[in-house]
Amino acid sequence: MNVQELVQKHKLLECIQCGMCTGACPVSKKANLNIRRYMREVSALGKLTVHPQNELWSCTTCSTCGVRCPKDLNPYEFLIDIRSMAVEEGQIAPTIRDALESIFKNGNPWARIRTKRSEWLQGLNVKHIAQGAELLYYVGCTSAYDPRVQNVAKALVHCFQKAGLNFGVLGDEESCCGSEVYGMGEKGLFEFLVEENIKIFNKYNIRQTVTNCPHGFHAFKNRYNQTSFEVQHHTQLLAKLIDEKKLTFSKEVKKKVIYHDPCFLGKQNNIYEEPRKVIESIPGVTLLEFDRSRARSLCCEGGGGRMWVDIPGPRLAEIRVKEAVNVGADILAVACPFCMLTMEDAVKTTGNEGKIQVMDVAELLALFL
Ligand code: SF4
Ligand code: SF4
Repeated sequence: MNVQELVQKHKLLECIQCGMCTGACPVSKKANLNIRRYMREVSALGKLTVHPQNELWSCTTCSTCGVRCPKDLNPYEFLIDIRSMAVEEGQIAPTIRDALESIFKNGNPWARIRTKRSEWLQGLNVKHIAQGAELLYYVGCTSAYDPRVQNVAKALVHCFQKAGLNFGVLGDEESCCGSEVYGMGEKGLFEFLVEENIKIFNKYNIRQTVTNCPHGFHAFKNRYNQTSFEVQHHTQLLAKLIDEKKLTFSKEVKKKVIYHDPCFLGKQNNIYEEPRKVIESIPGVTLLEFDRSRARSLCCEGGGGRMWVDIPGPRLAEIRVKEAVNVGADILAVACPFCMLTMEDAVKTTGNEGKIQVMDVAELLALFL
């Protein structure tokens, strides 16, 4: 893509240089990322200066800049295209390159082999989608391989089984959804994954999918350009199952729970109510809110490839954890595997172990069924 095409595709001439995007960007100070300046250089000066790699790879694709832009522009989509150009020229952080290579070779960014993808399912009595299941539970790479997030997947299976859902999985045939590949700018690999995943979804005639990862949810819903299957985030399905009384509660425990909106569920897809509804339905639970919640929610720094690039400096997840502790929450509820990992890490680095627990909404719910 050349500069002229970038200007047209992202409507850069409509930018009024108000700076709302950079002002709202959660990593602008820490990484010196000035997305407004990037846009001006391309639209007004017709060139793109080479910026330090930290700047380019610091963006979490949280979309806050797009939410705040008064001209309805999407600065982060422009930045993803800048990343694509950098990737094509081989200007890429080594850890990002390793993650991309692993996705191509192993179908996951965690350098784990394909044949171990469904190991976490042992003893859970979950069928393969080919065995007459109506709903596909798309697990996703992090839930399939990370020991902490595997507990979320297991809790969700417990909820589905309690509700009597006819669901199945792809097992070792499942592959990376490509969400982060897109965010890291490797569009060629993303297209390859879309093609492969659509092929396998069609092979099993999949029409309904649920996933506990907002990144997979966003990719399937908004990036795949497909109409053959519908996708739900697990909090949407759990809220529906509670509504239909397919999930009922067996106990009550007094807990204060604060909910952190994942960017890819909230800002990117306007899903704010269902996770709160699940939490508020649990007997004895009081829902607390962050000062910055819903569309103002602070990013955890896990998206856009940032799980594989460390940017030095204070972490946003640490700010989040400190605030949750300060308002007296017992549990910090999340609804995304990346939020789970960044928040759990932040609990340790801020010395708050034992003071607050990080739990996915599904794990919280499963405790009370
Ligand atoms: S918020 Fe929108 S209009 Fe304002 S500088 Fe950023 S991209 Fe331009
Ligand atoms: S997507 Fe988020 S991190 Fe990236 S430039 Fe926009 S506000 Fe900053």
